Amino acid sequence: MKHRMPPEFTVIRDDERCIRCRVCENQCSFKVHNYDEEEDRVLEDNHKCVGCHRCETLCPTKAIKIRRN
Ligand code: SF4
Ligand code: SF4
Repeated sequence: MKHRMPPEFTVIRDDERCIRCRVCENQCSFKVHNYDEEEDRVLEDNHKCVGCHRCETLCPTKAIKIRRN
C-alpha cells in the first residue's frame, strides 16, 4: 500500500539481537510485525504502529525500539 504521509512511528529492530521468536508478531493488535520465512527476518509495517510500546517491552532480547517521528 502507498502512503503519502510518513509514518508517525518507526519500529527499529536489531536483527543481530532478534531470535525470531515471533512474540512481537503475536502480541501486536495492529499486525505491524510479520515474519518473512524466505528472508528469515521479522519485517514491520510502520504505518500501522500506534506507538503503544508493548512489543518493545515484551521482546525477550530487547531487539525493538519504537521511535516517534
Ligand atoms: S519479539 Fe524480539 S526477538 Fe522475538 S521476533 Fe520479535 S524482535 Fe525478534
Ligand atoms: S508499539 Fe504497539 S502498535 Fe507498535 S508495533 Fe509495537 S505492539 Fe504494535
